[in-house]
Amino acid sequence: MSILPTKNELGFYEIRLESIGGLGANLAGKMLAEAGVLGLGLNGSNFSSYGSEKKGSPVKSFIRFCDATTDIRAHSPIEEPHVIGVFHEALYKTVNVSSGLKSDGIILVNSARVFDEVKRDLNLQHGTLAIVDALKIAVKEKTRVNTAMLGALFRICDFLDPEAIRNVIKRTFEKKYPQLVEANIRTFDRGYEEVVFKKYETPQDTHQNTFSRPLSSLGFATQTIGGVLTTQGNSMEKDLGGSRQGYIPKFDKESCINCASCDTVCPDLCFVWDKRVNKRGKQIMTLQGIDYQYCKGCLKCIEACPTSALSTIQEKQGFTHDNKVSQNFPYISGGIS
Ligand code: SF4
Ligand code: SF4
Repeated sequence: MSILPTKNELGFYEIRLESIGGLGANLAGKMLAEAGVLGLGLNGSNFSSYGSEKKGSPVKSFIRFCDATTDIRAHSPIEEPHVIGVFHEALYKTVNVSSGLKSDGIILVNSARVFDEVKRDLNLQHGTLAIVDALKIAVKEKTRVNTAMLGALFRICDFLDPEAIRNVIKRTFEKKYPQLVEANIRTFDRGYEEVVFKKYETPQDTHQNTFSRPLSSLGFATQTIGGVLTTQGNSMEKDLGGSRQGYIPKFDKESCINCASCDTVCPDLCFVWDKRVNKRGKQIMTLQGIDYQYCKGCLKCIEACPTSALSTIQEKQGFTHDNKVSQNFPYISGGIS
């Protein structure tokens, strides 16, 4: 008898992880597949798709499970999953994360917000919504959100053995980072315990969320003559908030000596400057603040600052979605707790 709770027409139980580069969804997908294959003897496969950037771009990780008697001959991205895991709410802005979710499927979101708000932003019509505050757990345990998300995913995929993933966590960390084994097991256990569920009834005659594949606006019929790109490429609208791991730099203007050491080390040109005339009538550049839209939370600027003008503070989960809360300046987006 199969231990899988449900299967599609090809005999697969499928999971899709929606994430942002840097949050560890690729590793979480690998560990999930390993726990099913090595721990339970299922057949399984896992692969990820991501852009060329190391951090900040959307990432998808796909996991397929089937009984040991079934061969896996499908290697395409998963379009109609039974379970979706959303690692960061900033993704809603650019990716239709719930696309293709089966009508009896479960979508897990890393969020500190209430069910109905998350449902509204996901545009979820039916199915089960699961929420875990993976960022809060990761910050508290000094680990990463992917392990807390794994805990919640194991609670959802209750045919998987949690003990199997504890062994995978041990194997993954004990060689290079033995000091992280215990903290990661605690993070996994908290994700498993703290995930909460709400089921939204499926109206009669409702089918699953239709899968939509993002299409390029330029094709053979619409491209310009010679295939010339007429718009300049830039990253002005990009929001790097999804790369942050729960901490951001806080700027204190009073302590700043305008030395620009922070700007020199910042990889994403987050520092906003303005011209001012000093007491001697000389024009100087003064630091106005940090544009959190581009800040990936690497905290290099804090190490570089020779005064206490920059310090580390904990970020309030979910603000990147609203992204309108200003700190010191109207044009500087982002917010702090
Ligand atoms: S933490 Fe500092 S150095 Fe890193 S991206 Fe943000 S502003 Fe730039
Ligand atoms: S490194 Fe510190 S003191 Fe220097 S400009 Fe940046 S915030 Fe101001």
